Amino acid sequence: MKPALFDYVAPETVEEAVAALAGDETARPLAGGQSLIPTMNFRLSTPGRLVDLRRIAALRGIAVEEGTIRVGAMTPHRELETHEAANAANPLIGEVLDNVAHIAIRNRGTVGGSIAHADSAAELPCLLVASGGTVSVEGPDGSRKIAADDLFRFHMTTTLAQTEILTEVRIPALPPATGYAFEEFARRRGDYALAGVCALLTMGNGMCREARIAACGIGARPVRLAAAEDALKGRAVDDAARAEAGEAAKEYMTAPADMQASVAYRKDLLAALVRRTVATAAERVEG
Ligand SMILES: Cc1cc2nc3c(=O)[nH]c(=O)nc-3n(C[C@H](O)[C@H](O)[C@H](O)COP(=O)(O)OP(=O)(O)OC[C@H]3O[C@@H](n4cnc5c(N)ncnc54)[C@H](O)[C@@H]3O)c2cc1C
Repeated sequence: MKPALFDYVAPETVEEAVAALAGDETARPLAGGQSLIPTMNFRLSTPGRLVDLRRIAALRGIAVEEGTIRVGAMTPHRELETHEAANAANPLIGEVLDNVAHIAIRNRGTVGGSIAHADSAAELPCLLVASGGTVSVEGPDGSRKIAADDLFRFHMTTTLAQTEILTEVRIPALPPATGYAFEEFARRRGDYALAGVCALLTMGNGMCREARIAACGIGARPVRLAAAEDALKGRAVDDAARAEAGEAAKEYMTAPADMQASVAYRKDLLAALVRRTVATAAERVEG
């Protein structure tokens, strides 16, 4: 299949890109093209204008400062995955990105593109929700920041306006005494997962002081598993606590049965991923 006809512009500043989007209500930003171009080729999307962001130097780069990892929206996945300072500040990043597609796709796909695309099974949105990150966006009325919890609305739908460009992603560094883990299950390595779980556990005196757990692939957007977090807080992370957290997570599974898995299978999978990631995160604090 070939895409429908479209105009193409490649501006050099964010302001020019915003103006180009505002001039055509069907216009879409083009980042790495790893998701947008296939949907255009299948004619699932038919933008009248593509606003290519690749010439905008201000949208690329990684800076680690004051407990935050700042990532320009056009930074390729692979650059963040292999960035030493970013991974030293938050090693969950490399663990998550290792599961996104394949290296060839991670060389082209961008951090901002993945988050703006907002596939409910994608790993980076899940990382952003688990770690309490934010994004910066720029539009005709200026710039604003959006917390991860307020960004993802539905599968492939965010709270960004059509005229807004995601410019930067901010991921907090790992807090002290905090362990991390990401695990997912996909039928083939590199595919979008049936489910994936990010767990961040802050420990003190052998007890879980704070837990942040989020999952992808289980519903219409990345989901915080608050009941699983509550099952861990204020207690030792032993077999019983992990089992309770896994059971509590099942209530968040809203993905329907399909040719890949029944709902009961999906719930059991989610519970297993919660138990495993929580165990690994707790071990990493102690170890
Ligand atoms: C075979 C294959 C397997 C894959 N497997 C996975 C996987 O397992 N996990 C996973 O997470 N992803 C997977 N992907 C998707 C990949 O990670 C993409 O790179 C990513 O989803 C989109 O990034 P992109 O830079 O290519 O964005 P594009 O495809 O260029 O854009 C995607 C969407 O986001 C919008 N957009 C892009 N950048 C911005 C911006 N700065 N501001 C506002 N809107 C913007 C575009 O208009 C478009 O609607 C896979 C892709 C392929 C081809």
